[in-house]
Order: sequence, then structure tokens, then C-alpha cells
Amino acid sequence: IRLVMADASLIQKSRLGLVDIPDDISFPDLILQRATEYGNRTALIDAQTDVTMTYAELRDNILRAASSLYERGLRKAEVTLIISNNHVLFPVACYAVTYLGGIASTVNPHYTTEELRYMVEDTSCSRIITQSPLINKVQRAVRGYTGLQEILLLDSKDGYTSLKELIDSGNPKFVSPVRINPVQDIAFLPYSSGTTGRSKGVMLSHYNLIANMYQDMHPSVVFGVHHPETFIVFLPFYHIYALSTIMSLGLIQGDILVVIEKYNLQLYMNCIYRYKATLLHMVPPVALQLAKANKSKNFMASVHTIFCGAAPLGPDVERSVLQRTGISTFRQGYGLTETSSTSHIAPVKHWKHGSCGLLLPNTECKVRDLETNEALGPNKDGEILLRGPQIMKGYWRRPISTANAIDAKGWFHTGDIGHYDEDGHFYIVDRLKELIKWKALQVPPAEIEEVLLKHPAVADVAVIGISDKEAGEVPRAYVVVKRGVKVTEKDIIDFVTARVAPHKKLRGGVQFIAEIPKSPSGKILRRILRGMMVEKQSYA
Ligand code: AMP
Repeated sequence: IRLVMADASLIQKSRLGLVDIPDDISFPDLILQRATEYGNRTALIDAQTDVTMTYAELRDNILRAASSLYERGLRKAEVTLIISNNHVLFPVACYAVTYLGGIASTVNPHYTTEELRYMVEDTSCSRIITQSPLINKVQRAVRGYTGLQEILLLDSKDGYTSLKELIDSGNPKFVSPVRINPVQDIAFLPYSSGTTGRSKGVMLSHYNLIANMYQDMHPSVVFGVHHPETFIVFLPFYHIYALSTIMSLGLIQGDILVVIEKYNLQLYMNCIYRYKATLLHMVPPVALQLAKANKSKNFMASVHTIFCGAAPLGPDVERSVLQRTGISTFRQGYGLTETSSTSHIAPVKHWKHGSCGLLLPNTECKVRDLETNEALGPNKDGEILLRGPQIMKGYWRRPISTANAIDAKGWFHTGDIGHYDEDGHFYIVDRLKELIKWKALQVPPAEIEEVLLKHPAVADVAVIGISDKEAGEVPRAYVVVKRGVKVTEKDIIDFVTARVAPHKKLRGGVQFIAEIPKSPSGKILRRILRGMMVEKQSYA
């Protein structure tokens, strides 16, 4: 009895208490409502052309695009893939689709034809919105797929309808005829591999997303206190961090989003200076670059806060960045695609170096002892389990994966290992799940293994992440070669490079081994492989 009581009392409730979350409005309606309020203030700037979109124009564009899409037959619950680099019309596409009760699934534009085909088939999408440089690849990916109604472009090309044409011919007074149930209906369907296997659609309801917006807007965690903030958006809109916490939250708060299509450090710093950015949203590899960059101080006078998430970052890098840039505040956040983006954010005041912050309002956390499953007290590492209104509905068409991720008591198992201190600040220290993160982007090992099993020389394979100073982790393949067959490391690497998006390349190389360590049920024992790697390194 003592143990059970101890367990319950160790469940961490948010120290920020509760916020009211509306459940009677759709996600795009919330965006439109706010956009109406902000009127002629600037919403988006295209850093390539300097073209500006005000909030009033954003609202008009969403309604006009939605009315045209409705006329063209987009109906409730249909999936539209948005396959694009960052573009100022990206949010217009997302909210126009969801305003009609449609589901927007955002896709990495660097995916190969095969990877895109998987997305098309897995989502059963009826529509694709993409860009002209990607059109040939997209056309190859949909060859033979019968469910597609049309391909639209965010930019323009002869023979294709552009979003701009839909906007120009649309009705700015359009009222969606569709009834949306915010708790039941899905708005966004980004993909994540979760703890195991291939990428899966993460069903985020309108309410999940609205909840996460209201949680993030709590006065103790809100991004800055000087609205409107100005962000330079180079993180990809297709990933949950930019999709939810930068694009959607920024627009709901009336901030200014300066959109960069392709990142490089100098361009980023120039934009910070030119547009007087106030808050920098970044990921660890960029923080690492800033920790080494000379003269960054000259570009940063307008910035009050750095915010970083999506992968681990140690306190030393944070300190170097602050010292180099002259900025005073460095706050981390933690979350997953499955948590609509955030479950933890470092508070505006009393943030701590190396911590990913406090539990957001309305969120509970249990740190699970890996052996006993009991809830752990402060300063003890275990798996982070979460409960809250921002946790996904489940994985798209995968009830078993959903049941494995969210247990009978509603706890979502993150697959991350960490602890909290006496003040309720959390620290992520390791990963239990097989996911690899290269520069904060997901690399599901199962996908590379599936590719390699098609190589004629490969009998068996396992892919794990090995740590890398700049990228966080890089994938390495452990390969068992078929008897009597000859193959080189380069053959294997080239085979993978030709078949996966660039972020999944085998940058960690290939090791040939006699056998992949597996459990009696056939599960790859990745921990043993990791152990082998440590031994090898210390031996060398
Ligand atoms: P994604 O769904 O792509 O956002 O990936 C989520 C995963 O990124 C988490 O499960 C963590 O492994 C990792 N992650 C996100 N934020 C942090 C952070 N602040 N510190 C350490 N790992 C993080």
C-alpha cells in the first residue's frame, strides 16, 4: 500500500496550474479570429523578396483559398499533403485546408520519390500542394495512385493551378459550410516514427493544437513579453516545432514571421539584423554554430531571448552562445510531434541552464523507473510519461502502435529518459527509443534497415545513432553480409544515399559484423550494439 501511495504522490502536476482551453472553436477559426483583431499589422515577410502580408491579408487569403478549394471539391476529413520548403503561403494552405475540415499533412520536401509514395499511400491523400521544382518528383511518386484529385502549386508553373490563382478567384467573405468537432476532428497529420518502426501519421485534433497554444501562452512561459515579437523562420514548417510553436503560435500572438527558404548562418544573422528580430527560435546545431561564430554580437542587438528545442543541448553550449552573442536569456523547450509540439518550456524567469523547463499547464508527468515501473522522485532518471490535452489522438490507421504509445491510464510513453529537480525543472539525458535525430530531424532506423535489406549482399542489418558533435547523432549501419558475397562500405553507403532523403544518409559509416544481436522474439538489441561501439572506441 505504501508503494502504491508513493507512486501516486510522485506524479508531477504542472506547477503552473491550469489554463482554460476553449473546446468549441476550430483551430483555423482561432487563427482567423486573431487575424481579424490584428488587422493591418504585419504577419509575414518573405525574406527573399521583402514582400509583406498583413494579418488582414492573411485572413482574406485563407478564406479566398478555402472557398476555391471547396468549389474544387475538397471535403471534410480528406487529406491534403503539403510538400514544400518554407514559403509565405504555407500557412495559408494549412489553414484553408483545415477551415474546410480537411486534414493537412506536412511533408519534408527532400524526401525521395519512394518516400513520397509512402506518404501518398499511407495518408490516402486526395490533394497535394507543392512547389514547381518538386513537381517531377511528386508526379513520379503518384504514378499509379488512383485517389488523387489534383496537384496545386504554392508558386506557379504552366499547366498547373497555383494557390495564388485560387486566392485571386476566391471569396473573402466565404463561410465554411462544414461543421467541425474540435475534439474529434483532425487538423494536422505530421509524421513521426514514435518509439519504433516507420514514420506514422500523428493525429492532432483541432483541440490538441488549441490546447498547446493556450498552454504556451501562460504568462510564465509565453515566448517573450514584448509582443509583437519578430522571428526569423528558417526551421522547416513541415516539422512540428515550426508548424505549431513558431507558425501557429506566432500568428495567434500577432507576431511578425520573416520566412527564409534555405538556411545559412550568414543569411540568418543578416536577417536578424535587418528585420530586428527579438526572439530566436533555433535547434541545437544552430546554437552550436553561434557558439563558435565571430562577430555575432554585431547582429544581435535587438534580440532578448534565444529559444531552442527539438533535440538535446548541454549547458556549456548555452553559456558560450550567450557569451558570444551578448544575449541574456537562453530557454529550452521539450516536446514531440505527438504532443502537438510542447510539454515542457523553460520559464521566462528563473530558467536553468541545460534544463528543458517546467511542465506546461494542464500537463502531468510520471518519470517511470525502467525496472520497477514505479513513479520516481526528484533527480532520478526514468522514462518520461505524459498526460495532457495536447497529446495526440493516436497514430493514423495504426491502433496497435497507438495502444503501445498511450497506455490504459492515458499515459503517453515518450521513449525519452530524464529527471526533474526539486524545483520541477526537467532534464532529458538519454533516449530509450530507437529514433535517431540528425540535426534535430527524425531518422527512423527501421526505414534505413528496410532499404538495406533490399541490397543483394545484405543478410541482416541494424542501424543505430552514434553521437556527433555537430549533428547530435549520425546513423551507422551494422551489416551482416551474405555468405560468399563481396561488398564494400562505399557500396552500402551509396545504396542508401540513392534511396533516402539526405538527412538519413549513413553519415556514421558501416561496420560489418557476424551477427546482429537480437532478443528471442527477434527484436534488435540496439543497446548491445551501442555497447559494442563504446568498447571499440575505447580499444582504438
Ligand atoms: P520530434 O517529434 O521530431 O519533435 O522529436 C521528438 C524527440 O526529440 C523527443 O522524443 C526527444 O527525443 C527529442 N527532443 C525534443 N526536444 C528535446 C530537448 N529539449 N532535449 C532533448 N531532446 C529533445
